[in-house]
Amino acid sequence: MDAVTPPVTVARHGAVAVIAIDFPPVNALSKAVRQGLMDAVRALEADPDVAALVISGGPGRFIAGADIREMSQPPDAPFLPDVVAAIDACAKPVVAAIAGAALGGGCEIALACDLRLGRPKALMGLTETRLGLIPGAGGTQRLPRLVGVAQAIALICEGRVLKAGDALALGLLDEVVEGDLLAEAIARAPGVTKRRLSELPVPAGDDAAEEAAIARARKAAKGVPAIAEAIRVIRAAGEAEFATGLALERAAFLALRESAEAKALRHLFFAEREATKVPGLESVAPRPVEAVAVIGAGTMGAGIAVALADAGLSVTLVERDGEAAAAGLQRVADLYARQVKSGRLTQAQGAERLGCVTPTADWASLAAADLVVEAAFEDLAVKADIFRRLDAVAKPGAVLATNTSYLDLDAIAAVTSRPQDVVGLHFFAPANVMKLLEVVRPARTAPDVIATALALAKRMGKQPVVAGNCDGFIGNRIYALYRRHAEVLVEDGASPQEVDAALEAYGFAMGIFAVSDMSGLDIAYAMRKRRAATRDPAERYVSIADRLVEQGRLGRKTGAGWYAYDAAGAKSADPVVEALIAEARAEKAIVPRSFTPEQIQRRLLAVMANEGAKALAEGIALRASDIDLAFVHGYGFPRTRGGPMWAADQMGLRVVLTEVEAAHAAGGTGSEPAPLLVALARDGRSFADWQPTKQAEQQGGQEP
Ligand code: NAD
Repeated sequence: MDAVTPPVTVARHGAVAVIAIDFPPVNALSKAVRQGLMDAVRALEADPDVAALVISGGPGRFIAGADIREMSQPPDAPFLPDVVAAIDACAKPVVAAIAGAALGGGCEIALACDLRLGRPKALMGLTETRLGLIPGAGGTQRLPRLVGVAQAIALICEGRVLKAGDALALGLLDEVVEGDLLAEAIARAPGVTKRRLSELPVPAGDDAAEEAAIARARKAAKGVPAIAEAIRVIRAAGEAEFATGLALERAAFLALRESAEAKALRHLFFAEREATKVPGLESVAPRPVEAVAVIGAGTMGAGIAVALADAGLSVTLVERDGEAAAAGLQRVADLYARQVKSGRLTQAQGAERLGCVTPTADWASLAAADLVVEAAFEDLAVKADIFRRLDAVAKPGAVLATNTSYLDLDAIAAVTSRPQDVVGLHFFAPANVMKLLEVVRPARTAPDVIATALALAKRMGKQPVVAGNCDGFIGNRIYALYRRHAEVLVEDGASPQEVDAALEAYGFAMGIFAVSDMSGLDIAYAMRKRRAATRDPAERYVSIADRLVEQGRLGRKTGAGWYAYDAAGAKSADPVVEALIAEARAEKAIVPRSFTPEQIQRRLLAVMANEGAKALAEGIALRASDIDLAFVHGYGFPRTRGGPMWAADQMGLRVVLTEVEAAHAAGGTGSEPAPLLVALARDGRSFADWQPTKQAEQQGGQEP
């Protein structure tokens, strides 16, 4: 910020005063903005030459919400509720000229105005629940007075962002202005009559609609206490005086601000922004990408093609022969048909996107692609052959990506004459749905190829995490230890159901054994067989999963795996599995012991954080928060827990280390405490406070 330009300025247009906020990038409600607004409203109210006020965020903007960095500090005056109250109390009409995002506190300011005019690009929403909060400046009390309790619950609990048309339909916007918004606001302001939402009654509601909104919100709450609080406080609007409701709202807001869930969600908010900052890439431009190709149109290839077509790219889908190409296109068509059926896309949109995907068995068509994603079989010989052929046909400068889950990217890059163009784009199944995209960086990849991958991720609405090249990269590497120790717990006495129940109680949508059954046990089995020859005999090997596969129990697809499945797909514990487990224990003379849910949770979290610490120290992950993102966006780790590294920090690294030592005793080689964890625990430090030091070094001490 330039010190000479205050973030809030006032300009006169006759008797109308325009309060303009200019606080890049999004006009967040930092202290300086709150102060500027407060001072301006008070001064203009007292100024006899001013008849009306307009609040503007400048072209393309309004106020995108609170300054989230300030939320981790003690509240500092002027408080937003006081600024909003000053606008509400102002005796002169106040018009909100909303040219862009009016979210969170920005929306609350708009709701305190007497007239809300928006550009067609305006966005409105009370999105605080996404951060584990509720609106804290009157939003929970004014919105129901405008749209009714049921709608307010739906909008606030779902954290919905309304486009201008929807905001107009609901009454959040009074008008959508196609032309010059500010000129229109200035022209209209003197004639506006005061209309304080705080003085309006809550419209009589429809009880059934309210109950339905509450039920939907509770179902979607996923461990966010803010949802229950939002429901309670919004309902109070219908029953209590405005001032009473405001007091309830403020108390709930301040308590939630300090909650573990809100802190974890704030951590992820910053983690998501931080993840795209890669040291050395600050001024590197991505390569242009328009035409893309996918090689292999199986489960992943089809999903990747959909993700790319959804981003508006034209996709060539290359298969081994015409028949396989047609089958691949059918898979893509099925994915779109499902989206049309669920109402997410219209028939026309589905057809249009499907039309962006061209199946072929002709490798010559790859010559047009700016970027190619290989998603063929997980076999180094297959991939090496593909990359050799790709090297011969791809145009110079094309980005050559592979979706491999585990294979050595340096080895794949080495078969080409252009290793600088080779990168890993590790999508997660289903690739058109899962948000995580691991961008894997082999040793010789050019910086602009990484920049291209990050730009592509953004275009596809994916969350990228940059990973170094190692076995399993960030996610699968840590997941492998997580799974190994889940199996150790079972061999030592827990049942798969107990492990899954503990994980689900922690907040995972599904336990690890249920997930394994869903993805199929055969892939991990094949990998274990491949690695058998090189496995360290001092590593504890639990063979229960192998026995399941050898009995034809591959998971859901065969109707049985760790669980039994009935015709409707409902799972249950299976005595056959119990017998297999008992047999494995007996062979090793293990006397089964019992584990509490807390012990199971602590053990699995500790091994994840420990392996994460190893990945960090090796530079495979750039920062602890990247690991958190990988698990939250790719592996179902509960958002409200902030990710495994964050959760370990909350537990305290000394406690984590003690648990890792126990895990090492149980798991043997491969489960040793990470030297980084040992050092941090010894010094009473955390992953979070280790991380900025490391980044500051990498970024030359610059604040990001
Ligand atoms: P899949 O068996 O469903 O599909 C592979 C497809 O590649 C098949 O349609 C096959 O015909 C085609 N193919 C094989 N060789 C080819 C060649 N030379 N030229 C053109 N096409 C060829 O496999 P998948 O599950 O989609 O996995 C693909 C890749 O994605 C693997 O590397 C896998 O490790 C990785 N991956 C899979 C998952 C997952 O959950 N399935 C997740 C992340 C990454």
